Amino acid sequence: MRLEPDKHLHSKEHLLADDLCRMTGETKKFAAYLGIAKLYYESDLRGLARRVLEKQDLPPDARGKYFFAALRGLEKKLGVKFKRKRKVPKVVPIIKEPEEILRKKAKEVSLKETLSPKIQGLILDMKETLKKTPNGVGLAAPQVEESWRIFIVSEEVEEIDKVKNQRWEEKREEWKRNNTKPYEEREWRYYVFINPAVKKISKKKTEGPEGCLSVPEKFGLVRRAEKITVQYFDENGKKITRGFTKFFARVVQHELDHLSGILFIDKAKKMITSQPNDKIVEKEI
Ligand SMILES: [Zn+2]
Repeated sequence: MRLEPDKHLHSKEHLLADDLCRMTGETKKFAAYLGIAKLYYESDLRGLARRVLEKQDLPPDARGKYFFAALRGLEKKLGVKFKRKRKVPKVVPIIKEPEEILRKKAKEVSLKETLSPKIQGLILDMKETLKKTPNGVGLAAPQVEESWRIFIVSEEVEEIDKVKNQRWEEKREEWKRNNTKPYEEREWRYYVFINPAVKKISKKKTEGPEGCLSVPEKFGLVRRAEKITVQYFDENGKKITRGFTKFFARVVQHELDHLSGILFIDKAKKMITSQPNDKIVEKEI
């Protein structure tokens, strides 16, 4: 029982790490134990620590080593299964122009970094943030103050491109007939682009309206290539090459610019005001 908790033990994970340190006799390795307390479920870690303590033939100074070895691969031998804790995604603030980080060149992400809890957590947070930003369809890592070559695009962009040639009213009727969920109530998934590189870009350009979550309530006409082919990695480190057209091609080019510290206001020929009922003009990326 702890009568007076230490001041630095401010969370459940800190308390767990402190208990594990004591149980294994490795009080100086607090940071290491805190790291695993954040990754695994408390009940699994306490169960493992109990088993380590119960092992009579284990010298006391080997408890810590045995504990970590078990976590790394001796799960079977001990008969304990460890589940990885799933991070709860959170909405993070989107920074606005003229914040300096928006003007920096973002850095490449290695495969090891891609699979790390830190980058996986960042991607989850970016998805959650975009989900809670109804007018947003694209978000680059520098916009949430993380200067990495990562951006995400909502699959809503594909739907916008499908509807573009038809009228929204017609499409709404069609969705009703097919019992498809109303557009505004749909849950979109997100494409993740890591270390994107342009493989092909069309000479033919097209002018279109654009807005940006980091430049709120401003819209401008920007000339972009009609088609673009990009090679990138997804959040599992899988290499993908894909071509984009229409609004999706515009979004990809806008996001690529973010990774180079470029904003659409640098390129816009003419600023415009948002028009109601224009799905593209309403969107910010
Ligand atoms: Zn933007």
